[in-house]
Parts: sequence; C-alpha cells; structure tokens
Amino acid sequence: MSKRLPLLAAFLACLALCPPSRAEEIQVMKSGKYYDKYDAYRVEDDFYLAAKDAAQIYGARVSYHGVSEKVLLSLQGAKVALRIGGSEALVGKRKVELPLKTLLRQNRALIPIAFFEGEAFSEVSGFDTQFNPKTRLLTVNLRSSAGPLRWFTYPDHTRIVLELKDGLAYKAEKRGVRTLDIGIPRGVIEWSEKVEIGDGVVDVIHLRQESKQARLSVVLTGEGARWSLREFEGPRRLVLDIVRPASAGPPPARAAAEPPEDALEKQAPALAAPEVHVSEAPPKKDAPPVKETPKAEPQASGKEETSARRKVRVAIDPGHGGRDSGAVGRRKTLEKDLNLQLAKDLARLLEEEEVFDVLLTRQADTFLPLSDRSKTANEWGADLFISMHCNAHRVRSENGYEIYFLSERASDPEAERLAEFENSVLSLEGEGAMEDEAAGLLYQLARNEYINDASELAALMAKTLARRVDLSNRGVKQASFYVLRGANAPAVLVEAGFLTNSKDETKLESKKYRRKIAEGLYAGILEFARRKDWLERKGGKR
Ligand SMILES: [Zn+2]
Repeated sequence: MSKRLPLLAAFLACLALCPPSRAEEIQVMKSGKYYDKYDAYRVEDDFYLAAKDAAQIYGARVSYHGVSEKVLLSLQGAKVALRIGGSEALVGKRKVELPLKTLLRQNRALIPIAFFEGEAFSEVSGFDTQFNPKTRLLTVNLRSSAGPLRWFTYPDHTRIVLELKDGLAYKAEKRGVRTLDIGIPRGVIEWSEKVEIGDGVVDVIHLRQESKQARLSVVLTGEGARWSLREFEGPRRLVLDIVRPASAGPPPARAAAEPPEDALEKQAPALAAPEVHVSEAPPKKDAPPVKETPKAEPQASGKEETSARRKVRVAIDPGHGGRDSGAVGRRKTLEKDLNLQLAKDLARLLEEEEVFDVLLTRQADTFLPLSDRSKTANEWGADLFISMHCNAHRVRSENGYEIYFLSERASDPEAERLAEFENSVLSLEGEGAMEDEAAGLLYQLARNEYINDASELAALMAKTLARRVDLSNRGVKQASFYVLRGANAPAVLVEAGFLTNSKDETKLESKKYRRKIAEGLYAGILEFARRKDWLERKGGKR
C-alpha cells in the first residue's frame, strides 16, 4: 500500500490538475499528397502533437532530456527547444511565446499544434502548416516565399504585384526587347502561374519555379515601354508598373459585361433603356453618387479624404453569422466562417487602394438580421453592396461559383431554391422580420435603377474570377435575395463555391485559394470602377 502511495498521489494530483486529454486521429497531407495518420491529443478544444510524430512529419530528429524535461527537435541545422510544462520555446535563436503549454501524457511530450502553425516554426522548418480542427486535417506544405502574384489594368498603366518574404533578394533585367525578368534566388513559389493578360500593355506573365530560384517573366505587348519596379512593405511586395504607351489606346473592354441573354428578356423594363454616354456632359453616375449625409458614423471611415472626390464606398456583407451558420460542408466547414474570411480578404485588397473605402457589415461571428445588413450599408452611404456566401446542394457533384443580382423573379428554379435558402434566416429573426418583406418589396420597386449596374458588376466579377481560379463559372443569375432588396446601391451576391462538393470545400478551406477568389472579385470591382471613371489617375494599387 505504502509503496503505491506516491503513484496514487501523483494520479490524484493529475486528476485534479490536468484536464483530461484524449487521443484523436488526424490525417496529414504533405506537399499536396496524403502522408499518414497520427494520434493527436485533444484537451478541450486544443490539439497537441506528440514530439516524435512531429519529428517524423517535419523530417526532424527528436531527443528528450529527462532531467531537465527538455524536448529538442533538430531540423536542418536549426534547433527547437521546448520544456515540458513551459510556455516558451527557443526556435533557432529566437525566444517564442507558446500559444499553450507543452504537456506530458502517457510518457509522451505533447506540443500544441498551434505552435507548428506559427511563423517562427515555419521559418526554421521551411514548412507552412495549417490545421483544421473540424476536419482533423493537418496540411504541411513547403513554405513559399514568393507570391501570390496579382495584376491589374489601370487606364494608364498595368500593375503587377509579387509578394516576397523578407530577406529574399531579387534581380530584374530585360531579356530581348519585350521581356522583363525578375529572378528571386532561393525563392520558393506556392504554385506556378501563367496568365495571358492581353490588355495592350502586357501579353503574358509567368511565375515559375526553377531549381535554384523563382522567376517571374513579363512579356510586353510592344517594344520600348516605360516601366518602374518598386518595393513596398506590409506585406513586403514588388510592384512593377508598366506605362501604357499612347499608341496602345485605352484598355480594351475585354471582360465585357453583357448581362446574360435571358436576363435581358426577364429584366426588360429595367435593362431595355440603353445607357447613353455623353462625353461633354458625363452622366451623374460617372462619379460616385453623392449620398445624403450618413445618419450613423461609418465604421470604416476616419481616414482623411485627401482628394476632392470622395472615395468609392464598398460595403461587404459576410453572409450569416452567430446562431445562423448558413450552409454546412461535408467536413463540417461552416459557411458563416468562410464568408467572413472571404469578406476580409476582399476588404484588405480594396483598402490597399486609395480610391476605395470599405465597410464590413459584420466583423466577427455575430448574428445580424438580413434587413440590418443593407440598412447599415445605406446609412454609411455605400456605392456598392457585395454579399459573400458559399453554396450548398443536395446533389454533391454540383460545384462552382455563381454571382447573383436582384430580381423579383428567379432566373431558374435552382436560383429560386437558393434565394429561399438564403432568405430562410428570416425565420430566426423572430416576429416582424417577415412583415418587413412587403416593405422591402415596395422599396425595391424604386431601386430598379441599380439593376443595370448590378448586372454589369456581377458579369465583370464572374469573368475576372474565372481568370484567377479553377472553380467552374456557373455564370450570372438573378433571384430575389432579401439581403439585396434594401440596398440603396448596385448590389450583388457571390456564391463562391459549394460546400457540399468536396473539391470545392477543400478549395474554400485553403487560405491561399480564398485570396485568389478575393483577387478575382476585386479585379471585377476595379474594372467596374474604371468603367464608371471612379478611379483617380494617380491612385493605384501597390
Ligand atoms: Zn449563404
């Protein structure tokens, strides 16, 4: 009895002090391929990985020093030192605060998975790590240091932006008469990209991996174009501007925004009147329309408006939130979470641009009635209203994105079904919400003036998105979305992909992929603003 006493005491102490942990199987994907499955340990909502498993995944050596209770991971020269029960780690020469303390369970040193996801570990290991606690999927990819790549056509120049991790050097040189080459020694790209821009300034851009460097080649349309290469911080990025030669004429309206043919038929009253562009006396809508003084102080304002022309206000509405989770993916991904992330990605791109001001109707996982969303945007004086959503369908093979603008009649039964789903939150909003519907309907009759613009914006976004992502483009559709009805501005609703389709779900779960979607949508907004002549000549994305 007495011999067992210390053990028993330790056991009881542990019961009292250590929260229970249990093993849960996780899958590991490494460099895009299935790697193996492991037992992770879960304490409440936090996941831990055994040090020896982590060592195997990241190709490290592990050693455990019992006396000092130290765990040492040796990775390609760099060392990571952790102490059991400690809340700090030594990563290379850097002291890093751990998100959670390391634990010892069943003789295993357990390291919080959040530590592997951090920037410090990514730097020494050379791998980017992402863990999805809902799907139990740990994704480990070679850390990319160059990219993503963005490009934008402005009235007087074409801009190419490449993000670069700190510490990487680069060298730009002309190759032949029409090619600019930027070599990035030791640069690693996430994926290679070849894009035919064809805007009269740049023919093709090509980002690719070579054995010892990453290389960006820019093939110009004409010879002798003027260009400049600059560097900006936060995040670090190279900005290549190529001046549009006078001989090239204005940028082509390649991503032409004809509304779909059936839209023309069904929206005859709204769309039949052609917009006449008179250059001497530009129509009022060419400048951001001047709205009544906002009743509420806009959340996102506060920046000084330096130019005489006020900024273009874009309200982004992340669909659902709080007790309304929206669609649920096959791996339990929640639509409301993705909508918020997509909205934030899009907001970030718009905010980098001088000419745009952005408002998010919700910033966190909060419940917001449908009618409040457009009301908030209206009070702020939004010029554009963009509602972000992800789709769901009982047929799991359905995939791709769709962009909607408002109509009292749906363009097809599927569009009607979707509007019913997205409107169904009204039943969660309690008494009164349904009665508002009639008011919304009446209100909308006065809003038809925005339908032309909304259909153009939707078509532009669908086309620019198609050039950035390999989701299938299901096109522009119309349906009666409650959230769009009250908007006092051109309003569109983006269904970015199907959570019920496992390929779409995987893409939407990827941070990098969501950025691509945001860039595609952003390019559509930019093109719309260009057509409206809202872009100031000096403004420009960096
Ligand atoms: Zn939705």
